[in-house]
Amino acid sequence: MSLDEYKAKRRFEKTPEPPPRVEDDEGRRFVVQKHQASHLHYDFRLEMEGVLKSWAVPKGPSLNPNDKRLAMMVEDHPVSYLLFEGIIPEGNYGAGTVMVWDTGTWEPLGNAHEMLAKGDLKFRLVGEKLKGEFVLAHMRSRRPGSKGTEWLLIKKRDSAARENFDIDQFDWSVLSKRSMKQIAGDQGSEEWQSNRSATPRSRKNAWLADAIAVSDRRKAAASKAAKGTAAKSVSKRRSRPAKATAKGRSSTRKAG
Ligand code: MN
Repeated sequence: MSLDEYKAKRRFEKTPEPPPRVEDDEGRRFVVQKHQASHLHYDFRLEMEGVLKSWAVPKGPSLNPNDKRLAMMVEDHPVSYLLFEGIIPEGNYGAGTVMVWDTGTWEPLGNAHEMLAKGDLKFRLVGEKLKGEFVLAHMRSRRPGSKGTEWLLIKKRDSAARENFDIDQFDWSVLSKRSMKQIAGDQGSEEWQSNRSATPRSRKNAWLADAIAVSDRRKAAASKAAKGTAAKSVSKRRSRPAKATAKGRSSTRKAG
């Protein structure tokens, strides 16, 4: 397995994401990351063959066996990406907020390598939110010129299935318990909004936007360890330039 594509898409002096490194050992962990890039989506990753095999799932995984979730296979990620949560700075590939939405272990229901190659990967998850059996099924594309990256993620019918599953009810990190807004550093902004609900969001933030964009770039360059403040936090959603979102979209366009 290679992390060349992962490496080529990123500048590691600009993003807090981990550098590429293929592991020797064969672990069996998984992670689902909620990723607010140009489009909100979930990244489903299985530790396998020294990397994280990865799929972008626009609507996220579901415990409802009736849901067939489109899952676009994307580039392998390094295993150290498992517990990555935070902000990918504006101007970088996939810029936006990343939450560790679920993690745990997985167990292939057969030979993992063969099932992956065949496009019929059956497995069991033991996570905090996701449990039970699933299948990732490669779709044979009828469209000429299709990249062939489309899979479906489907829950099997078992005791962990939940027909009323609603992913929006699970907006917390299993790592830090934070919501997406909290990870984005939006707590101050939320308080402000609830106190002054008559003020439109765009107006209340407009005067800050420019100063914040500059401060954000400095902060990203200087240190990811900088502590959040209300002023910085407002910028997370506001100051992402169109350029950055266009870049992020290239990876997730099909992922909604
Ligand atoms: Mn993503």
